Amino acid sequence: MSIDWDNLGFDYIKTPFRYISTWKNGQWDEGKLTEENTLHLHEGSAALHYGQQCFEGLKAYRCKDGSINLFRVDENSKRMNRSARRLFMAEVPEDKFIQAVEDVVKANEAFIPPYGSGGTLYIRPLLIGVGEGIGVKPAPEYLFTVFCMPVGAYFKGGLTPTNFIFSDYDRAAPQGTGAIKVGGNYAASFLPGEEAKEKNFSDCIYLDPTTHTKIEEVGSANFFGITKDNRFITPLSPSILPSITKYSLLYLAEHNLEMEAVEEDVYIDSLDQFKEAGACGTAAVISPIGGIQTYDDFHVFYSETEVGPVTQKLYDELTGIQFGDVPAPEGWIRNIKI
Ligand SMILES: *Cc1c(COP(=O)(O)O)cnc(C)c1O
Repeated sequence: MSIDWDNLGFDYIKTPFRYISTWKNGQWDEGKLTEENTLHLHEGSAALHYGQQCFEGLKAYRCKDGSINLFRVDENSKRMNRSARRLFMAEVPEDKFIQAVEDVVKANEAFIPPYGSGGTLYIRPLLIGVGEGIGVKPAPEYLFTVFCMPVGAYFKGGLTPTNFIFSDYDRAAPQGTGAIKVGGNYAASFLPGEEAKEKNFSDCIYLDPTTHTKIEEVGSANFFGITKDNRFITPLSPSILPSITKYSLLYLAEHNLEMEAVEEDVYIDSLDQFKEAGACGTAAVISPIGGIQTYDDFHVFYSETEVGPVTQKLYDELTGIQFGDVPAPEGWIRNIKI
């Protein structure tokens, strides 16, 4: 195995082991690690036809002392079960979910990037409806799998702002599936995302599906802004995916940076209130927003080329906790010693 730890991107890399477990006749089997990285599915599987599937994304971090940190894995388990309930799927018990993640991380330990490289082990839990069927109804069986791969730092050489553009499309309906982590939301975002990239933007920003007057989400990350009077604001809406990174930043802004931190409406005609803005999520961590192409102008926040000081501080606090260099709030870190 030879991996260039300093030049990892965000691409599929086959690691030796993944976990797989099946739910049948009302119960989960014990589950096991396997080296097989393809799935053999019934052609009538509900996941394939009716989008009965959901997923999660989290990371394992190599600490200075060589041990491994998992960040808020219990929150990923709870969110996957909220997704499962909304799509009428079998839930995965929290202890089973966490055990599966830990087993996969330990089995693929050699693939966790070294401390200081900026890389992490990205972990993808996936729950899909499978088994014989064709009528529009929930699947008779469910498959839960967890696999992982090393990924690089999103931004090499510091946080670099990028630009975004408002979308005319909606990613989710007001009381639909926006708040759960399901593939269908993503399939619906590929065309708007491509159109944004063709215009040289990183991605699009979705507005609230009811009135198109408020910011909802930044592609596949949540939005936050720092106001000129130093408040941390992130939009509140039933169709935003509740980002664990976002809730962590809300907490850190309030407790570690002593800012007022709130979820509230972010009207598109109130962007002037912000001195900094960013997008946050597990994959991107924090991505500073340089500017936004709105419906009538191009709005620049802190700078198109440099990260703002508050965004940088939030990033340092969050990643410091994740890599074990900064004390974590109670229950945020599961440390695994090999
Ligand atoms: C996963 C996801 C996020 C980020 O959530 P985290 O828990 O912070 O990783 C944001 N928006 C969408 C649409 C997502 O699917």
